[in-house]
Amino acid sequence: MSDSNKSIKIDLGNLKAGGFIKERGKDLFTVRLRVPGGRMSIPRLKKIAEVAEKYGGEFVHLSVRQSIELININFKDFDVVVEELGGASQRVASCGARVRVPTACGGCEYNPNGLVDTQKSALQVDEKLFGTPTGHHKFKVAFAGCPFDCPKSATNDIGFQGAVYPALDSSNCIGCGLCAKSCVPKAIVMGDDDRPVFADDPCIWCGDCIKVCPTGAWREKMRGYTVRIGGKWGRNPLVGTLFATFLPEERVADFISAVLEWYKQKAEGLGRIRLGDTIIKEGPEALLSHLRTQFPDNTVTETIPPQVIATQVGTRP
Ligand code: SF4
Ligand code: SF4
Ligand code: SF4
Repeated sequence: MSDSNKSIKIDLGNLKAGGFIKERGKDLFTVRLRVPGGRMSIPRLKKIAEVAEKYGGEFVHLSVRQSIELININFKDFDVVVEELGGASQRVASCGARVRVPTACGGCEYNPNGLVDTQKSALQVDEKLFGTPTGHHKFKVAFAGCPFDCPKSATNDIGFQGAVYPALDSSNCIGCGLCAKSCVPKAIVMGDDDRPVFADDPCIWCGDCIKVCPTGAWREKMRGYTVRIGGKWGRNPLVGTLFATFLPEERVADFISAVLEWYKQKAEGLGRIRLGDTIIKEGPEALLSHLRTQFPDNTVTETIPPQVIATQVGTRP
């Protein structure tokens, strides 16, 4: 299928790769739409509703990864469905062992907590890397605007969280204590001289101290993404661990490409294996040293393998 969804010819032998998922009913498919970052213009939404009403069932489904799924589409209507959606620049998503559509929260445009433009990053990654075959397994990317991590980015193969590193100019401080009160991890406490004392370790880079300071004594020293790698959900969930800090927004796609390059190579011959399990097998230092050559200023000095999330808790009947 062409990327522009113009002059469509569906590859019936490779339906899942094209976002067409077989349903229980005879000849019926779910058609998963491509909605990077979950953002949908109102004209596109109207067109989707029109197409769904014409060719689909009585409802659409919103997937957990921010896609709209058209339900009960007969395979004979694939070409016309894709063509009509294409008229509103709405494209079909992808499944299988490929880079999937990135998810993202609203980022910094209207959300007061947002520290980076997650929507811009999601669109860039979608344009550059969507559908890239990994050769091994699915590959998911998510963007969170701040360390609150509403999109649960750390359970993706690569998860990005917006971050700012604070720096204090004591000469502007009036000793009001607001920064210490707002710092939930207690990285700031007030000293005996009524001036804030900062500890690097507990800081989660949320930037709340900068926002709350009435005199601008706290300012931003660095801004970018922290990057966690190796997460996944499913039967054996993993949470990704920290591989890079303050990655500039414009280097996100290059960073993902570098990880993909390593994954493709190291998972060769290992069958259907996710990135996180490949890191566990090879050791995190193998990936860190690969990334260090291209991102020396952002790669952390050491990290730990992705961590198992226990989901089978409680007593069996
Ligand atoms: S992750 Fe941060 S910026 Fe994104 S929605 Fe949550 S609070 Fe807002
Ligand atoms: S960035 Fe957040 S965690 Fe760090 S010192 Fe400021 S308020 Fe505390
Ligand atoms: S909020 Fe600003 S002015 Fe108040 S104690 Fe902190 S640094 Fe000083």
